[in-house]
Amino acid sequence: MSSAAQHFDVIVIGGGHAGTEAALAAGRLGADTLLLTMSCDTVGVMSCNPAIGGVGKGQIVREIDALGGLMGRAIDAAGIQFRMLNRSKGPAMYSPRAQADKQDYRRFVKLAVEEAENVSVRQETVVSLVVDGDATADRQVSGVKVADGTVFHAPAVVLTTGTFMAAVMHTGEAKSKGGRAGEGSSSGLSGALRDLGFDLARFKTGTPCRLHGKSIDWAACEPQPGDEDPQPFSFLTDRIAQPQIDCYLTGTTPAVHDLIRANLHRAPMYSGAIHGTGPRYCPSIEDKVVRFADKSSHQVFLEPEGRDTHEVYCNGISTSLPRDVQEELVRGIRGLEKAQITRLGYAVEYDFAPPTQLKNTLETHRVAGLYFAGQINGTTGYEEAGGQGLLAGANAALAVAGKEPLVIERDEGYLGVLIDDLVTKGADEPYRMFTSRAEHRLTLRQDNADRRLTPLAARVGLVGAKRIAQLERHSAEIARCEAFLSAHWVDGKTLAERLRRPDVTTESFETMPEWRAERFEPRAAEQAAISAKYAGYIARQATEVKKAKRWGAVRIPDGFDFAAVEHLRHEAREKLGQVRPADVGQAGRISGITPADLSVLVVALERAG
Ligand code: FAD
Repeated sequence: MSSAAQHFDVIVIGGGHAGTEAALAAGRLGADTLLLTMSCDTVGVMSCNPAIGGVGKGQIVREIDALGGLMGRAIDAAGIQFRMLNRSKGPAMYSPRAQADKQDYRRFVKLAVEEAENVSVRQETVVSLVVDGDATADRQVSGVKVADGTVFHAPAVVLTTGTFMAAVMHTGEAKSKGGRAGEGSSSGLSGALRDLGFDLARFKTGTPCRLHGKSIDWAACEPQPGDEDPQPFSFLTDRIAQPQIDCYLTGTTPAVHDLIRANLHRAPMYSGAIHGTGPRYCPSIEDKVVRFADKSSHQVFLEPEGRDTHEVYCNGISTSLPRDVQEELVRGIRGLEKAQITRLGYAVEYDFAPPTQLKNTLETHRVAGLYFAGQINGTTGYEEAGGQGLLAGANAALAVAGKEPLVIERDEGYLGVLIDDLVTKGADEPYRMFTSRAEHRLTLRQDNADRRLTPLAARVGLVGAKRIAQLERHSAEIARCEAFLSAHWVDGKTLAERLRRPDVTTESFETMPEWRAERFEPRAAEQAAISAKYAGYIARQATEVKKAKRWGAVRIPDGFDFAAVEHLRHEAREKLGQVRPADVGQAGRISGITPADLSVLVVALERAG
């Protein structure tokens, strides 16, 4: 018999980046939420690199923050170096990135989860799911079972197991079970998911060795300082006050590449020991040496793992080569001739669930109330995981409360692009975000994430009064600045028109006493200036979005039988049946679906409707 204390509204499995955002979002919406994780000590752990953000990813962190999530505030508190990347490419491409003190980051996240209203945390390993109903069509999750057989009940479960399902770690010929160095593997869940009919596949990822900073010859490396005016990630943080730390740059040499080539047969990826596909955009050093054979050097960024440790992360030489090769490899790098390894690099191979098995709410098609988020969906990266977690947790809580789901469209956020790509196209390789994946990137900027998404979050109750008031103040200040730019003229042109010239910025107006007298808030002035500068492009993009939305408005009912649509090509039936798109717009984005297929589908929907 289960006690009342074991009944919850939402259960989240996993305390990583997806799981913590999921639990916090569900809790913010008032759902009685239980977070179950393999170890309470690893809640919020950064498994690999000590950094948050970057190109495409920094925008996601700003969006998580705009939706009331934690990641932005955590990195603002735990950051040790902040940089705005892509400054030379124009504001649409600006991407914030920060190095983190890993332990501070983990502590911040863990404490936030412990202090969150409606959220309880327990150290438990989940081994299976409790699902009611036997016909595929009406299966409904009702709880989870943990290692000692205890069952926790909830009508919604969010699974965020990261790199842990059936995980195997490799360092050269050495193999061990586990999703992260020093931790175990989660073995029961893969079987439980397969029994429910889910497809699972294998991906791999890797991490570089860590070095003792005192053994590095820093003078031989090139310092990489942070920005002089560090910009916060969270819209609630006024400024970054803590001092910043330098990173350093060095590089591999031809001798290092020769060493790697000579030992490729001992690298698990090449010896055949690993079958999973690795991240193309974050390759191991052995992959780089093979794929870019003509390059004589690859960059290695030396990134401190924190303020109160000497450990240093070697960004750029992720590897699963054997121990002896790693030792020699490191010592072949300039500045690292005497470096001592504190932790060896390794690769991890794990099960993921191809994400075309999900709706755009991240609920599975197969089992009602069961949601997947994070690395389990074939993505890689803390930011991608955090964003999915937030939306899965929110949607789980909204569904339990009988409310409409929160779905972000492709033109509203990178998170919309991420989820639409996953559920529509799947993941043939670990998926990470890039600005090039977003067709509306002129409007999906890091600077305006709050204006794009906080109103959506407010509508469902995900953000509090403080954030809403802050956005209102900010929007009013932008409007005041825009009005000024349209009402002031210089040489026959308004200031807004003058801003369209590439060499004109608001700094050019600093000589005007009227501009100075207004004392516009800098962030608001920057946004007003961006809107003026790109006004023509933004208007054109809005027309395209409107056109694309026409198809998006044609909904496809849940359970619609694509196989029964007459005149639909066999391939189209198969693909539509597999992805089960929510609307005709999504159907059109499935690879291999033609405009002619859409016309047939629309006619069938009209007949059915
Ligand atoms: P995780 O952060 O892995 O969290 C999973 C959580 O689930 C953990 O708390 C775990 O304890 C818990 N859990 C698992 N199974 C159970 C269970 N049965 N019961 C209860 N709790 C459970 N990202 C990059 O962007 N680039 C990289 O190069 C990169 N390299 C990586 C290398 C390694 C070796 C590893 C381990 C990860 C790497 N990552 C990399 C990935 C990055 O760590 C993840 O993208 C991110 O942490 C995913 O977040 P998540 O919340 O989905 O999963």
